[in-house]
Amino acid sequence: MTIVRDKLFIGGRWVAPAGTGLIDVIDPSDASVYAQIPEGVAADAEAAIAAAHAAFDAWSRTPAAERAEYIEKIAAGVEARREELAEAIAHEVGMPLKMAGRFQVAGPVGSWKHYAKLAREFQWEEQVGNSFVVREPIGVVGAITPWNFPLNQISLKVAPALAAGCTVVLKPSEVAPINAFILAEIIEAAGLPAGVFNLVSGYGPVVGEVLASDRHVDMVSFTGSTRAGRRVAELAAATVKKVALELGGKSASIVLDDADLATAVKGTVSSCLLNSGQTCSAHTRMLVPRAKLGEAAKLAADAASAFKVGPAFAEDSKLGPLVSDVQRARVIGYLHRAIEEGAEVVAGGPDAAPQGPGFFVAPTVLVVEDRKATVAQEEIFGPVLVILPHDGDEDAIALANDTIYGLAGGVWAGSDEHAFAVARRLRTGQVDVNGAPWNPRAPFGGFRQSGLGRENGVYGLEEYLEYKSIQMPQKK
Ligand code: NAD
Repeated sequence: MTIVRDKLFIGGRWVAPAGTGLIDVIDPSDASVYAQIPEGVAADAEAAIAAAHAAFDAWSRTPAAERAEYIEKIAAGVEARREELAEAIAHEVGMPLKMAGRFQVAGPVGSWKHYAKLAREFQWEEQVGNSFVVREPIGVVGAITPWNFPLNQISLKVAPALAAGCTVVLKPSEVAPINAFILAEIIEAAGLPAGVFNLVSGYGPVVGEVLASDRHVDMVSFTGSTRAGRRVAELAAATVKKVALELGGKSASIVLDDADLATAVKGTVSSCLLNSGQTCSAHTRMLVPRAKLGEAAKLAADAASAFKVGPAFAEDSKLGPLVSDVQRARVIGYLHRAIEEGAEVVAGGPDAAPQGPGFFVAPTVLVVEDRKATVAQEEIFGPVLVILPHDGDEDAIALANDTIYGLAGGVWAGSDEHAFAVARRLRTGQVDVNGAPWNPRAPFGGFRQSGLGRENGVYGLEEYLEYKSIQMPQKK
């Protein structure tokens, strides 16, 4: 049965939206209508901003330890509803259910807990000479989030913003919004003062653009495509609000000559295909020594082909559908373009996916010689690995750095020291040495057109803080 959410959470209450439009949320595994949500309009966004503005003074002066108590309650609420959240995300995003709990909900539980702890432990003030330097919340935050790891991206904005003492208006992705409605219920149950957190669903160019433009929003934190991020930054400039942008990527996995090729290829394919390749930090370009190109291509083709494609709720699915028909068409378009530009398809391809109502694309591996080819430069956001040959360490570094992006990356070598030396040279926000694991407390964000600012850990909290210096007279 279709889930219908017909109210927005504004000023501590579920209220009827100003308009009457509803947006269908499509289940990508079978193209059915999974849910409907309100198509918020500018008046809804303005009402939410007014509520957040009115709530700011009291919330910002609430002691951090008290804010931490609320955040702990939210963490407990997310944990208590984790199965329901995982199911909702499996329906909205299409990630196989057995992976959704681990990759889509465990992170948010950890984030909420961590920001409660940080609110208690953070050093909010210090003495510098005759100045008393305090960290203060920046104000009202507009948070705009994408669909690929929806609850994760929401939690990485809302939890630190609330911990900092900011109030928030969240516009979740219209493609995967049900997890955000569940979170709003959890926040309501935690008893947060009215207006501290507000949820307005709707389209980016309508609700999102009001958040980016309104003078009572002091900061807009955006995660999504580089195209929409540019638009948000342009609009935000008119009121000189702070902008945090987490954007796209085309991250390289560099395999050096002395690396264990089989391990490196397996690790890279897994990184590339997580969430059907719809991961901003996925390692989607694998740079291999020219002499090992054939062997690497064979290993990658075998590894990718082992990912069983299927609906999110089938037991044996390892690779779910893409999130939407539009996204599938975009990825298939890239595959045709790649073939036109001379790529060799060694696994998958545009016609290899299972037929069906779901939006499936087969795991695909391309060997590309032309470094300027479209698929070597642009973010595809699908289950597609591009293998490029390199001619040694210096060449690999130059190649890795040769896109407009700089979000993540990996280096594989015979020793961690060798890989580390290359990692130091990459112009990118994160680098994993020899398959090292994700660290949720390390700063995450982009160089160049991958974004501005950092999320995760204490770095994510500091984004929502201003400095204030209060000079005291020198004691005589
Ligand atoms: P998107 O840019 O289409 O949408 C993201 C959000 O922005 C949605 O809520 C959308 O409604 C809103 N939006 C769209 N146009 C807007 C506008 N003109 N003004 C204000 N808001 C607007 O992105 P998507 O398709 O949801 O997500 C995929 C993209 O997100 C990929 O490019 C991916 O790399 C990127 N991403 C980046 C990170 C990161 O941390 N760097 C994380 C996840 C996804």
